[in-house]
Amino acid sequence: EFDFSDRVGRVEPSATLAISNLAGELEADGVDVVDLSVGEPDFPTPENVIRAGQAAMDAGHTGYTSSNGITELREAIAEKLRGDGIDAEAGEIIVTPGGKQALFETIQTVVDDGDEVVLLDPAWVSYEAMVKLAGGDLSRVDLSPHEFQLEPALDELADTVSDDTELLVVNSPSNPTGAVYSDAALEGVRDLAVDHDFAVISDEIYEQITYGVEHTSLATFEGMEDRTITINGFSKAYSMTGWRLGYLHAPEALISEAGKLHSHSVSCAVNFVQHAGVEAITNTDSAVEEMVDAFEERRDMLVEMFDERGVDVSTPDGAFYMMIPVADDDQQWCEEAIQEAHVATVPGSAFGAPGYARISYAASKERLQEAVERLDDGGML
Ligand code: PLP
Repeated sequence: EFDFSDRVGRVEPSATLAISNLAGELEADGVDVVDLSVGEPDFPTPENVIRAGQAAMDAGHTGYTSSNGITELREAIAEKLRGDGIDAEAGEIIVTPGGKQALFETIQTVVDDGDEVVLLDPAWVSYEAMVKLAGGDLSRVDLSPHEFQLEPALDELADTVSDDTELLVVNSPSNPTGAVYSDAALEGVRDLAVDHDFAVISDEIYEQITYGVEHTSLATFEGMEDRTITINGFSKAYSMTGWRLGYLHAPEALISEAGKLHSHSVSCAVNFVQHAGVEAITNTDSAVEEMVDAFEERRDMLVEMFDERGVDVSTPDGAFYMMIPVADDDQQWCEEAIQEAHVATVPGSAFGAPGYARISYAASKERLQEAVERLDDGGML
């Protein structure tokens, strides 16, 4: 019999994946499920990126690369970050198989047993698991009473953090809420981080998906350049989830520590995928714009449909998620939504927000409309 590690015993399987598995089972039984549970754009990867990946394979880019990533891609990422106002160099970047691995490596590098890590709830499911795997202790600030915004919760954040805080995780635009935090909120984070000398992960994976609001990178605020780890990836902006490509940017001292984990675990991100990444980062502006326009139209349609039905949703300014208020027992609600209305959503409690369900609007307008109608007809709204 296996004697499993305490570490792995501390975490649960991903709740979002559990729901999509259930949706998959129903579909296998011939049920037409509207699956709004997945965090995956419903667009194909841009054609030129696919071609760049194929060309790289044909050109023989199929071996290991240098562990932190090919220079061409790290240079392209550094240039992109400089365009965002971050004073980045290629040597401050590790290219990873997905933003998830970048987060995992960062948390393993920064968090020791018993270190305090602060999350802003509702928070993406994997932060908690990653912190627990690293042995950290979680503290949480609940943004639900503030329409998921950070600025009105700064006092609570100030009460939560202390000189014992090791790390704060900020994710704007947010999964699961779609909230984009104001510059004033980020300045508030900066003041606290500097005061109490803690590090901040800024997960900016949805940064390009915003609707009429500006996203500011946390590392651009004075005092943050030496304490911010910026995480980003190609999955969401360029519809490249299955390619597995992301990165972290941080001061070189952190890169050399995290680089050890990187080289001893994944070795490097896939070679030809990194080449495709250069094309994605330098040559996809119009494709990204088209996807963002489509998401915005769907968001507007959904907000209107919920509004017409008296469901009070906070209008998300970014990403492609929306939290809808449901029954107190959100797990039960989601179970019924999938079993009876055949609409798959994720219970808010998976993100630390009981009483809500998260829907992803990475689906066509017709399917989204169908989903709201099914929920409404089933008396669930
Ligand atoms: N961060 C957030 C907030 C996410 O929602 C996701 C994906 O769902 C990731 C990071 C990781 O994405 P990937 O590993 O595909 O780059």
